[in-house]
Amino acid sequence: MTPFFDLEKLRSVPGFETACIVDPYSGGKGNSIRYMAVSPRDNYMRAEGMKNLFVGGEKSGFYVGHTEAICTGSLAGHNAVRYLTNKGYLQLPSSLSIGDFISYSNEEMHKKEGAKMRFTFAGSIYFNRMKELGLYTIDKDKIEKRVKDVDLLGVYNNKLI
Ligand SMILES: Cc1cc2nc3c(=O)[nH]c(=O)nc-3n(C[C@H](O)[C@H](O)[C@H](O)COP(=O)(O)OP(=O)(O)OC[C@H]3O[C@@H](n4cnc5c(N)ncnc54)[C@H](O)[C@@H]3O)c2cc1C
Repeated sequence: MTPFFDLEKLRSVPGFETACIVDPYSGGKGNSIRYMAVSPRDNYMRAEGMKNLFVGGEKSGFYVGHTEAICTGSLAGHNAVRYLTNKGYLQLPSSLSIGDFISYSNEEMHKKEGAKMRFTFAGSIYFNRMKELGLYTIDKDKIEKRVKDVDLLGVYNNKLI
C-alpha cells in the first residue's frame, strides 16, 4: 500500500526495465493525487438522480483498494444489466461484509467531515467495524454459508440476458 516505490526496484521487475514515474510535483518520489471528485450513489451503486448510471471504485464511497473497487464495480455492473432488463436491483444485505461496507460508508460519507473518511477492508475504520460486528473472518466455509443463507451464492454467475 506504499505510495512511494523505489524506481530502481521497480525496474528490476521483468517488463518494467524502462518504467518511469510521471511525477511533476514531488521531484522523482512519486505521489498520489486522488479523490478529487465524488459520485454520490445509493446502495445499488446507482448515481444519485440518474436512472441509468452506475458507479464503483474509489470515488463511489471514498474507497481505498482493489478489492473495494472490484466489490463495488461488480455490483454496479450487475445492477446496470438489471436496469437494462427491467429487473429489480440488487442490494447486498448487511449480514455480508460487502453489503455492510457499501451501506455504512454511504451513510458516513454524507456526515459532517465525511469527505475526509476513507474506507477499506484492509484497515482503519472499516476493519475495526468488521471485527466489532463479527463480520471479519478468513474461514471460507463460514463466508460461503453466510452468502448461502441470504440466497446469494453465485449471484453474479447467473446470466441476466
Ligand atoms: C501508489 C498506490 C499504491 C496502491 N497500492 C494498493 C495495494 O497494494 N493494494 C490495493 O488493494 N490497493 C492499492 N492502491 C489503491 C488501488 O490502486 C485503488 O484503490 C484502485 O485502483 C481504485 O480503482 P478505481 O477503479 O476506483 O480507480 P482507478 O484505478 O484510478 O481507475 C479510474 C480510471 O478512470 C480514468 N478516468 C478518470 N477520469 C476520467 C474521465 N473523465 N474520463 C474517462 N476516464 C477517466 C482513469 O484514467 C483511470 O484509468 C494503491 C494506490 C496507489 C496510488
